[in-house]
Amino acid sequence: MILVLKSFLDFLLPRFCFNCSTKLTPRESLFCSSCRFKIARVSPERLAREFERKFEADKLISGFRSLYLFETGGAVQNAIHQMKYGNVFLIGSILGKSVARELKEYIEEWNADFVAPVPIHKLRRAERGYNQSFYLARGIASESGIKFMPRLIKRKRYTSTQTTLNLAERKLNVKDAFLFNRRKDVAGKVIILVDDVITTGSTISECAKILLDNGALRIYALSAALAE
Ligand SMILES: [Zn+2]
Repeated sequence: MILVLKSFLDFLLPRFCFNCSTKLTPRESLFCSSCRFKIARVSPERLAREFERKFEADKLISGFRSLYLFETGGAVQNAIHQMKYGNVFLIGSILGKSVARELKEYIEEWNADFVAPVPIHKLRRAERGYNQSFYLARGIASESGIKFMPRLIKRKRYTSTQTTLNLAERKLNVKDAFLFNRRKDVAGKVIILVDDVITTGSTISECAKILLDNGALRIYALSAALAE
């Protein structure tokens, strides 16, 4: 968007840093420059290590990228927390666009047909009002020009929150929790699956398995943040 228009919109609707709440300049989005500078990025070495740890053995995910390191009490946690519980759905879209811009070269290399969010159960969506990964994936799709396919998979079981579970428990928790949408065709397609935070990778792997079982060619995993 051109800067003049952005300045005008800022005048009408001031935007604030999602971490420290200072007013953003027209050139800033999501975080102010000083917060953005402090946010830890995931290094290529760390990504390679995490790929090995989370996805190598299952051979379901062909590649994996994550932009920020999720630190307890950090700016990314604040932003994602607001997106999840503060009903700030717009942040998902802004964050998605920023992820797509910053990881452009990798996303282009994947040569994907679809961008799809990891689904949440309709009961949880009713609780929260929306699926934050939906807006994140939509932002990524719109910035990268790849087709947005939000309803490829459904969550059939209401799984309990994963935050207190270890890897083995998480795997069990999401096993058979998803269902392929039979009205969709993914045969031969390359799909980027999007989640807000990737921790063990068990949720995204389970979704990838369903898409591959239904004929998808390759699945890539993309998230705004990477957690321990
Ligand atoms: Zn700030």
